Amino acid sequence: MKKLLSLLLCVCMLLSLPTAAFAKTSCNCGHSPVIYVRGFGGPLYNTETGKRIYEPAKEDYKKAAPYIAGAAVALLCRSYPLFCTLGMKAAMMLLGEIACDETGTPLYPTNAHESLPTTDVHGKYQREIADYVFDYDWRLDPFDTAENLHTYVERVKSLTGHTKVSFVAHSMGSVMLATYLSEYGSDDVDAAVCLAPAFGGVTIMGSLLSGEADISDKSEELANFLLSVPALSDSRLQLLVRVCRKLRLFPPILRWLQGSLDSQFDRAFHECLGPLFAQMPGIWSFVTDEYYERAKAFCFGGDAKYDELIRKIDRYHYEVQANLRKLLDDAQQNGMRLAIVSGYGISSMPLSRAHTQQSDFLITTKCSSLGAYSEPFGQSLPEGYTQAVQDGHDHISPDRLVDASACAYPERTWFIHSLMHFDFPYKNTAFIRWLVEQPAETTVFTNPEYPQFLLQDGHELRPVTE
Ligand SMILES: [Zn+2]
Repeated sequence: MKKLLSLLLCVCMLLSLPTAAFAKTSCNCGHSPVIYVRGFGGPLYNTETGKRIYEPAKEDYKKAAPYIAGAAVALLCRSYPLFCTLGMKAAMMLLGEIACDETGTPLYPTNAHESLPTTDVHGKYQREIADYVFDYDWRLDPFDTAENLHTYVERVKSLTGHTKVSFVAHSMGSVMLATYLSEYGSDDVDAAVCLAPAFGGVTIMGSLLSGEADISDKSEELANFLLSVPALSDSRLQLLVRVCRKLRLFPPILRWLQGSLDSQFDRAFHECLGPLFAQMPGIWSFVTDEYYERAKAFCFGGDAKYDELIRKIDRYHYEVQANLRKLLDDAQQNGMRLAIVSGYGISSMPLSRAHTQQSDFLITTKCSSLGAYSEPFGQSLPEGYTQAVQDGHDHISPDRLVDASACAYPERTWFIHSLMHFDFPYKNTAFIRWLVEQPAETTVFTNPEYPQFLLQDGHELRPVTE
């Protein structure tokens, strides 16, 4: 009997060993810790001086104000060279310290990524959607940021005892997530919720960096754009736009603006826009494939001094953006739960030569959803239209603006009408949390509260109806 007891005791102890070991390292909270990877434009601080170099401070705006006012007067007087001189002076006063050199290295480095994981997440919306927030220097090569993100993930894992983490990535955050997947795989990733993702590129950035932005004949598109932006839905503003359209005021204004841009573009590009934007490796992650080689030729023209920068941006473009479908397919095969949320119902900015398209204000619906089909902005899918891919479900929006069957992952891509690009993480925290926690089997047909097509109405989210 004694022997039996001691044997039983031994068995119990053996059985409890792994449990004890597990309890020691896991917090048993039932879900993977969620890391929020924010979009482009987080604050940057000069490592040496501690001074904030982005965004500019109030004093910087005060100092630059006379130059901005002077530039506006020069523009009105059609003195384009003076406009350019004063405008560039103001831009460099406000943003000069974020510039990168020809190799894509910041003149003033920051340690944005060195913040340690802390549960003391600032900001109400961030607490609602995530347990940790990852900061990064958005100017850098995404591979540098992915390395920092990997370190961060390791720290979160050891802090919490979890073996996997989940991501909520907004806009450029998805670029960092995709680069992370490319470099480190998906073994540590439970779920990835991509909000208005930029990993498929941003059409207007390609258009701008290839020098093809042309607004001179876009008056109707400009009016449609202004009328579709929820942030400008004030009735007096809307009336002003309609009156300007009726009086045909847009065409001469746009021709005049385009004239000033054309006459000064080369100078502005080489003295200001190049160092500030084109020499930032991070910016190039936004350029879509259709523009990429043209934009490179336009910005760098084969000049050998840019070779190192070009090596960096080529690596991202061809290893990550051009390879995105495979990266996401492999990660899902490996058990990562992917959800994409894409915006529509707002006109894209009338800056590219192409038609204006459905967008979230910044990223076209086609880019952010990885392929959804829409007619040019202002038109719905024609009568008798049949969806691009017949997969046995209906993926056409009830308002007939989007065919989601054409996108990469139609079962796990949601679309929100009238949600501005920058509002994605703020306005829908309950929906985002729901997405992070959903099992892989969840589709856009699972929950009638969250069907594939949703409408943003203030802080309310409701299904789109016909
Ligand atoms: Zn389907």
